[in-house]
Amino acid sequence: MGLIETNGIIIKEMPYRDQDKILTVFTEKEGKVQCIARGVRRPKSPLLASTQVFAYSELVYYPGKTFGNIQQAHLIESFYALRNDLNKMALGSYLLDLISNSFEVYQESPEILKLLLHCLFYLSENKAKNDLVIVAAFQMKLVSFLGYRPGLTACMGCRKETDLSYFDIEGSGLICGNCREADHYTYRIEPELTGFLKDLLAYPVKQLKNMEIADELVIKAMDILEHYISHCIGKASKAYSFYKDMKNLTL
Ligand SMILES: [Zn+2]
Repeated sequence: MGLIETNGIIIKEMPYRDQDKILTVFTEKEGKVQCIARGVRRPKSPLLASTQVFAYSELVYYPGKTFGNIQQAHLIESFYALRNDLNKMALGSYLLDLISNSFEVYQESPEILKLLLHCLFYLSENKAKNDLVIVAAFQMKLVSFLGYRPGLTACMGCRKETDLSYFDIEGSGLICGNCREADHYTYRIEPELTGFLKDLLAYPVKQLKNMEIADELVIKAMDILEHYISHCIGKASKAYSFYKDMKNLTL
């Protein structure tokens, strides 16, 4: 197989040998791939900027059995502003972590890549009224793309459309008080929160970024969605725990 030329965002990096790195890249043409980038930890490497986490780059690599081999990388967007703000960096890292955890190697989605780039752009360029809404929107759209769109209009147990006061993680959506199962993990949910979750499903991020909404409500939605996603994909996000720990320390 010949050289692959594609755009991709670096979602993870690991030092390898003395001067190399193993990168996890979410690419347009091949989805999630792992590549070795040789010599890029040398301070004067011309590929330094284009192979670091968050860099969206034009890549040329030889595909390999386990690892591709990067030949060229040209930086398109560094999302530099994310690196100067601990809060934004933690939120952006969570989005990358979600991709890393929920995509298989070679699983692709140009739509989710585009969504990720838009969300990182809104975060880094301060385009959102509330950064947390961007994150919650990404969670909701990602989990729906993965095939686990939560049911929010009728009880997942009896299909009743009133008194939907709980979000049932194992039940994949809202349930009424009668259908609550003792061995399921459920969150008590207020109408305002239900309305917000529905908005996250209904509107594009471009519109949601203009939403003015209290942090407290968005954080409740984020907590539920992170729990729900980790249940669906069988893996909790370390970046999310890091973000929560950091927030608790600074409150
Ligand atoms: Zn019910």
